[in-house]
Amino acid sequence: MFESLKSKLKSVFKKAPAEIAEPPAAAEPQGEQKPPVEQPKEQPQAPLSRKEQKKLEKQEKKAAKEKKPENDNPQLSDGFFAKKIKEESLDDLLWELEIALLEADVALPVVEEIKEGVKENLLGKKYSRGNSLEDIVELSIKDAVMNVLKLNEFDFDQWFKEQKKPVPIMFVGINGTGKTTAIAKIANRLMKEGNTVVLAAGDTFRAGAIEQLTIHADKLNCKIVKHSQDADPAAVAYDAIEHAKAKMKDAVLIDTAGRMQTNNNLIDEMKKIVRVAKPALKIFVGDSLAGNDAVEQARAFDNAIGIDAIILTKIDADSKGGAALSIAHTIGKPIAFVCNGQEYDDIVKFNAKWMLDRLFSD
Ligand code: GDP
Repeated sequence: MFESLKSKLKSVFKKAPAEIAEPPAAAEPQGEQKPPVEQPKEQPQAPLSRKEQKKLEKQEKKAAKEKKPENDNPQLSDGFFAKKIKEESLDDLLWELEIALLEADVALPVVEEIKEGVKENLLGKKYSRGNSLEDIVELSIKDAVMNVLKLNEFDFDQWFKEQKKPVPIMFVGINGTGKTTAIAKIANRLMKEGNTVVLAAGDTFRAGAIEQLTIHADKLNCKIVKHSQDADPAAVAYDAIEHAKAKMKDAVLIDTAGRMQTNNNLIDEMKKIVRVAKPALKIFVGDSLAGNDAVEQARAFDNAIGIDAIILTKIDADSKGGAALSIAHTIGKPIAFVCNGQEYDDIVKFNAKWMLDRLFSD
């Protein structure tokens, strides 16, 4: 997973120290492409002996430890040997970063934001010779990615506990993204916590969808409210909620149709379900393999009905991983869960740190 991003980033990082630290005496042959690289001074004017130099470095490190840096990055420094991070060097690195993130299917505005964050954080700062620019840039990139991923963290379990019962939850998303499976997974999760659940077969557009949800209801041993194909989905949701109220059930999980999000009938249908069922939570289910399509779908549903949270499916098969970053950033809503397989237990609470580690893992 994410090898391409990781290896790209690695190549970025590998380049960094070379550019800053040791410009070769035998300069690059293609002199036209780049202005001459300024020769960094490896040593002060009056050269120190090795011993003196070591002593100075030790003092510098000690002083840096004692004086808390004014920024979050512990490797930045103001010491005697510190080197200033120049815009030119940073731009080269960030250009490579941009390519790597785009290859990982991260949407352009998100890439821009990450780049700006990193640049703002590092430009003009100084770093100690004892550290490599590679580490500094890596830390800074991780910081910036984390800031996007952390947007509005959402604890579904805690939220659910605090809601007035029954809690209507509406699921939207394009066919094939794993919406029905995600509903079954949430039902299973809630039931394991001792809650009672009613499923509402609101995708009346496809007979197959009603059947599919019925199979899940049978397997999970929970109630399903369904009408015939082509029935009004808002009426199905309404009946399911009435049933839940009468039987003191805790949750009503409302399935919806998922033909193309651009279809106006579908959008009207969604709006009607929202008016009638007044869902406490509207969850967009997105396929992490769909890349930028998933971002556009999320945006369309959000514009139409206002999405509250996201479930990202098929993360087990996602070779890129940029979807999480892009969706969270684009619609500014939290990713509640990621689904990582086809079994009912294959759903985990989204954790920004986990995603970050995954994104940068080998
Ligand atoms: P829907 O049309 O959006 O309701 O999609 P379904 O729930 O029917 O899922 C479509 C296919 O994706 C099915 O074969 C599911 O088993 C599969 N699927 C759903 N979620 C995941 C997941 O997290 N990982 C993997 N690998 N497959 C999944």
